[in-house]
Parts: sequence; C-alpha cells; structure tokens
Amino acid sequence: MLPKKKILVVDDNAFNRIMISKLLSDTYEVLEAGNGKEALQTLEKRHSELACIILDLIMPVMDGYEFLRIYSGTEKFQNLPVLVLTSDKKNNGEAMCLELGAWDFIHKPFDSNTLKLRLKNIISRSLLNSFEQLQYMSAHDALTGLYNRPKFFSETRLMLDSYPEEQFMFIRFDIERFRLINALFGEEEGNNLLKFVAQTIRLFAEGIPICTYGRIEPDVVCFCGPKRFIDIEKTVKRVVKLLSGYNHNYYIEPTFGVYIVKNNSTSVESMYERASMAASKCKNKYMTYIGYYDESMGEALLNEQRIINEMQGALDSGQFVVYFQPKYALRSNTPIGAEALVRWKHPERGIIPPDQFIPVFETNGFIGKLDYYIWEQVCILLRKWTDAGIIPMPISVNVSRANMYNPHLVDTLTELLDKYGLPPKLLNLEITESSYMDNPHQMKKTISELQRRGFVILMDDFGSGYSSLNTLKDIDVDILKIDMKFLPTGESDSRSERILSSVIRLADRLNLPVIVEGVETLEQKEFLQSIGCDYAQGYFFARPMPVDEFEKLISGQSFEQQMLEKPSKKAFVLDSIWSANPHAEQIFINIIQPIAVYEFSHGICETLRFNKAFIELFGFEPAIENVGRIASRHVSDEDRKKLRDSFEQAVERKSEVELEYPWLFENGSVMWVRVKLQYVCSDNESHVL
Ligand code: C2E
Ligand code: CA
Ligand code: CA
Repeated sequence: MLPKKKILVVDDNAFNRIMISKLLSDTYEVLEAGNGKEALQTLEKRHSELACIILDLIMPVMDGYEFLRIYSGTEKFQNLPVLVLTSDKKNNGEAMCLELGAWDFIHKPFDSNTLKLRLKNIISRSLLNSFEQLQYMSAHDALTGLYNRPKFFSETRLMLDSYPEEQFMFIRFDIERFRLINALFGEEEGNNLLKFVAQTIRLFAEGIPICTYGRIEPDVVCFCGPKRFIDIEKTVKRVVKLLSGYNHNYYIEPTFGVYIVKNNSTSVESMYERASMAASKCKNKYMTYIGYYDESMGEALLNEQRIINEMQGALDSGQFVVYFQPKYALRSNTPIGAEALVRWKHPERGIIPPDQFIPVFETNGFIGKLDYYIWEQVCILLRKWTDAGIIPMPISVNVSRANMYNPHLVDTLTELLDKYGLPPKLLNLEITESSYMDNPHQMKKTISELQRRGFVILMDDFGSGYSSLNTLKDIDVDILKIDMKFLPTGESDSRSERILSSVIRLADRLNLPVIVEGVETLEQKEFLQSIGCDYAQGYFFARPMPVDEFEKLISGQSFEQQMLEKPSKKAFVLDSIWSANPHAEQIFINIIQPIAVYEFSHGICETLRFNKAFIELFGFEPAIENVGRIASRHVSDEDRKKLRDSFEQAVERKSEVELEYPWLFENGSVMWVRVKLQYVCSDNESHVL
C-alpha cells in the first residue's frame, strides 16, 4: 500500500483542526499548525513531504494573508497547493487570497464532500504540474531553454521517421575559441554569450513548419530541418551580423558544419559526427563560417578509428621512430642543431607522416604518451653521442598543445634529463603559438618555469595564429620559428617578403633569434640572408632523416653554439622600394659588385639589405654598419667619423658622395674600401642610401 499523502491544516481553532483531521484521516495523514508562523516552521523542514495546505485566514501571531505573502515569494513552495478555508466574508478576501497564490477557496461552513473533492483536484493538478516540470527539465537545457542532447536526438529521430520523403539538413553551430572567451571574461559572460548564441539558432527555424534544435555540448547547438526551406548562406550571414554586434570587446567567430542528410534512417549521432567533421574544415580559417560535409570525410573517420585501435600496440612494438632534420646557420652553412620529428613505421602501410596521426592523438590524449616516448628516445641518443665523444648539438622536440595542460610537464622533463644525466639546454622545446591561445596564463607560467630550469623554448609556427604579436609581447620565448608556408602567397611574393623582413627586424629589436623553416630553394635562402636572418631549416638544406644518416652528418662536424648569442643588429622600415618591383630585388641580390642598402637617421646608420657579393667580401660583417657603434673592430675611430660625415653630406646634397677607407681584418691585414654613397630617398628623419 502507498503511504498516505500528508496535509498541513493551519488554523488557530483546535476544534476546527481536529474536525478536519477526522474528516480526512481515512485518505490523508494530517499535520497541524496553530498559525502562519508555526506553519512556516513546519514547511521549512517538511515542505517536500506535503501534498497540500489547508489554510485559515484569521489567526493570531501570523494570519493567513501574511502567510500567503511569504509562501508565494518562496520559489520552493510553488508547487505546493494552498486551499483557503475561512469564515471571513469581509475585505474581498477570496480575490486577495487568489491573487496571493492560493489555489482554491472554500467558505465555512463547508460541505465535507466538496472539501474532499476540491482537495483531490488541486493535489492532482499540482502533481501534474510538477510532473510536467520534471518532464520539461529532463528535456531542456537549463541555461538556454533549448532541447538538451537526448531530447534533441530523440525528437530529430521522430521527425526524420515521420517525413521519409523529405530531404533534411543537419547544422552544427559553435563559436571558435569559446573556452578562451570564458577564461578571459568569466563564466557569467560566457553563459550570456551562450544564451545569445542559442537565441540565434532560432533564426533558422523562422518560417519552417517542422524542425528541431538543441544544445548538444556546452558550447555547441544543432539544428535539423527540411533542406528546401533553409537558405543557409543567407541565415548564416544574419547570424554573423548579429554576433558581431554582440560585444565589441572580443571577436566572435561562429562556425557552421553542414551535413545534408542522404538517408533519413542514418542515426542522428552519425549526422552530428559528420556535421562536426564538416565544421572542422573552417576552424582557424578567418572569415570562413560554413563547412560542408563530403563523403571523403567518412573515410577519414574510418581511418581515424583504425589509428586509435592500433596506436598503443604501435608504441609498444617500437613502430614510432625519430627522424632528424638539421637546422643551419646561414652565415657558415653548418648545422647548429636539429629538430626531432616522429614517423610511424607501419608494418603494412609503410611510413605514415605525423599529420595523419598527431591530430587524432591530440584529441584522444594519446599524444601525452607519444611525446614522452619521443623525448626519451632523443635523450637516449644525446647520451649515446656524448659518450661516444661527439659534442651533441641541441635537439629540439615538439611539445604538443595538449601537453601544455599537463601540470607535471616541468617535473617530467626535468626528471627525464636527470635520468640520462643531460643538461636541459640540450633538449630544446618547440611549443606552437596556438597552444598559447588556448590558455595564455598557464602557458606563460609553464614557460618561465621551464626556462628557469634551463630549457630553451622555441615558439613554433609563429605567425600561424591571429595574435602573433600579442603572443610575443606576453611570452618570453628564446627563439622564434617562422614557417615559410604561413606567409601569404600570391602573384608576387613581395608581400610575404615584406612581412618576413619586418618580423625579422622586430625580433631583432627584441633580441630574439629567428629560424625560418620550410626553406626549399636557393632563392629563398638568399633572400633570408639579405634581410639579416641567421638560421634556417628546410628541404633546401636537408630533409628529415633517420638516425643513422643524421649520425653520419654530425660525426666530425663542429657546430655553431652561438644560437642565442646573436650579434645585435638593428634595421627598420622603408620596404616600399622593394615591394614596388619584385625584380629589382633579384637584380640587387645578384649584382656583381658588393652593394647594400642603408638607413641613416640621427647620425646612426643601419643596414637594411646587402647582396651576395657584399657578404663574400666582408664575410657577412656589414662594412659600414652602425658607423656610430659596432664596426669599430674593423674601422678606426677617425675613419668612422669620416664615414658619418659622408653620409650626412650625401643626405644634405641628396646626391652621390665617394670616399675611401681601410678595413682592418682580425688577422691584422688591411683592405682598402672605396665606397660610393648614393642618396635614394627620405622618410621624415630617416634617409635611405
Ligand atoms: P612542425 O613542428 O612545424 O615541423 C615541421 C614540418 O615541416 C615537418 O613535417 C617537416 O618535415 C616539414 N618540413 C621541413 N622542411 C620542409 C620544407 O622545406 N618544405 C616543406 N613543405 N616541409 C618541410 P612533419 O615531420 O610531417 O611534421 C608535421 C607536424 O607534425 C610538425 O610540424 C609537428 O607539429 C608535428 N610533429 C612531428 N613530430 C612530432 C612529435 O614528435 N611530437 C609532436 N607533438 N608533434 C610532432
Ligand atoms: Ca616543430
Ligand atoms: Ca613549425
């Protein structure tokens, strides 16, 4: 038998209470209270057990009206019905009570059957009410009021089954880097943004007879509706516009993944998966908001599953191997270190490049294990080379962005080097710029701790993100790596070249050495030299190679160790001369006579560019560079003054000036240099010669 429902009778007249108790005791268990205050005390402890309150109005201490006022202002009592039972006929009591939230009203004297029936009615109404609420809560997301994941999936299933002839479109919608907004502006702001995003999904529903939408992940909403009613490009434009006006403190970039349903009986989960794959096509692509699913992505999914199934076995059986790609000093054309790059030697599929499995491992967490494995392999080799009497060059390893969340990263690395008795400066760490964007605060902390322990940090793929310059301002890395492939390409390469030379000059001012990677041609190499870049890596010098080949390369080689002790060299602006005519540069570089471009400003002269012949003659030590300062090793004080005067003269006359002076080599020999200074143009206080 079910336990009896409980009812609270609130009446100051004990006789009334006993009478009502008797009347109802066969169906209900009756609790009693002598006034509103006592009733509230009971409610405080037991409101969840009660099915109804029967309330008298006129009572001492706290009357029924006062009680109702408090009751109706208390959220948790909302579903507990109150039946007012009173002899008070004055004051328009009935209307007042109903207004204060009473569910029903009966005048004394009353008919006992009426009381029982009305009581039964309001109790079932309240149950229905809370049942509906429960139902609503279990189907809707509390923050946005949209369907939650299970409800969205089941409703969508129902819709697809009900309209087998209709072709549907499944849309997945999220905000790029939402987590970052949440971290930077706080959870409340993040929640408000989500509510706003949830509202915008309703735009897709406008004018559509059937559709479903819901919140599938904390920061993902989905929509499904008949394709013929949806003008996706137009609606997305509207959403983008709405979002761009939402908050001017940060940039909201939405991403839409679109899957056009081929077969309505496909599971909704797979539709969601496909829309997610489609969305990933526009991740990190500026101004690309919509990605469409195509069938080849399904194969990618299968392939991914295969990788996941095999990864642990592959690690255990040594299928992951390290390749090395040397880095070169441009000045001397010798290796100064190398980068360790993983390869998967698959027994059936041959060598699988990292692009095919690293992204999978990054999402499933396996990258933590693989990274550690590679670091350890590199340490083992560094130990071996040291023991064999080869002075090992620093080897850089990649630290995946997922690893930047690892709270033990610093200790793990330190312990690893201790285990093999190696100094931390031998294992350089390449961290990609995009890791920084995920979690700037944590990253900054981790990097400075790593540096404190002696590790050298390279910022990998610098320029691939949106906020490269901010990153530089905030994080104190030791070396910048720029990939040629992140530079814009176009009809003429002059834009890329200008960007690259500006970045190199900027880095120079920050005293940051730069390695340019992805260098494939002699032209690229020469260009890099002409803009003062010191280090490079790429197929032009060497491809990533297996360890035995790399060992041959380094045995007996002396290598440059001054990676971080780069001579400070500064130069700036006035690139317009080059961008105007890309051929001019080629001619300049290949001219037979040594030639250089200088910027002269406030008595100081700095090199902007120099050509091949120039490097050959002066051994890369710019002849007249910094007449005010550095070249003192090669030019006497007196001659430097003469040089400065000539620069000033050329600027003043806006014409040509010639002079001769002796250049002193380290070994004591002297070379007479004849300089023709040709004025080119000026920009405010700086002049190009
Ligand atoms: P990354 O760190 O930016 O590595 C540079 C990539 O450029 C390498 O690709 C390298 O082989 C390639 N490369 C070098 N020179 C040239 C060139 O002149 N032209 C062109 N087109 N490419 C060049 P790889 O080895 O396929 O690695 C791809 C990416 O996979 C790496 O990019 C890195 O992000 C990741 N990766 C590789 N090994 C590891 C690893 O052990 N751990 C982690 N976490 N990631 C790794
Ligand atoms: Ca790298
Ligand atoms: Ca890179």
